[in-house]
Amino acid sequence: MPRIAYVNGRYVRHADARVHVEDRGYQFADGVYEVCEVAGGAIIDMTRHLDRLDRSLRELAMAWPMHRGAFEFVLGEVVRRNRVHDGLVYLQVTRGVASRDFLFPADAKPSMVVTAKKVAPSLGAARAEAGIKVLTVPETRWERVDIKTVGLLPNVLAKQKAKEAGAQEAWFVDPDGTVKEGGSSNAWIVTADGALVTRPAEFGILRGITRTTLFEVAAKLGLRIEERGFTVAEARAAREAFISSATTIAMPVVEIDGAPIANGHPGSVTMSLRQAFHDLAERKAL
Ligand code: PLP
Repeated sequence: MPRIAYVNGRYVRHADARVHVEDRGYQFADGVYEVCEVAGGAIIDMTRHLDRLDRSLRELAMAWPMHRGAFEFVLGEVVRRNRVHDGLVYLQVTRGVASRDFLFPADAKPSMVVTAKKVAPSLGAARAEAGIKVLTVPETRWERVDIKTVGLLPNVLAKQKAKEAGAQEAWFVDPDGTVKEGGSSNAWIVTADGALVTRPAEFGILRGITRTTLFEVAAKLGLRIEERGFTVAEARAAREAFISSATTIAMPVVEIDGAPIANGHPGSVTMSLRQAFHDLAERKAL
């Protein structure tokens, strides 16, 4: 069965999926995206992801490519047509195709692409059991990282650098030593007295949907959250550290810059958050 992608009104073979060379996503990274987890045949937290898409579009003065109801239908249809039971669905909206000019085009229609991919749940489970390693890197991104744009070159470079150092994620760090977030995830620590610490999302980081849902999971588990900045030094001395994103849920961090966190094994608080996540997250059945 061939993989299917949705591209500007058509369901096409993934191998044949194309956008125009003058698409502004390609020319200027003038576009936004979302990634939702698909678990047990349902799209997870779709409402929150589409609310954030709406915010990203508004911040860039970009229009929805279609009504939200139709958009939701296309997401489901791409997941269905690819028979994705567990995995992810990726969606991207750009300002459209126009003769190359920095100014907003007067009449371009937004471009829309949706793809879906199977990912075996055992992969995430195995990764969580081992935990991941993080490399810290200086913050090099623009200030509007609260908008989920496809302009991800600093993230690409940081994650590549992490990989070359034997790590699976990079944490961007401010000049004062405060951890911002991961290349594609939010950053958390657990203090000695069991409180969860994560940076406020008002500015400087992306307000992760998984992060938001984990606040509810933490409340249900009776865990206290301190929404404040933390330094690399505090993270290295923490009881636990972890990252969150739609594709990793809560994923234990066992090493930062080559130094183990606590005993170097995944922490129990992180694992309990991970286990409870899908009990609380919204499930949009297909
Ligand atoms: N921060 C960045 C920079 C990201 O790219 C992502 C996800 O891709 C996140 C945080 C986590 O967001 P979410 O939980 O919505 O996947």
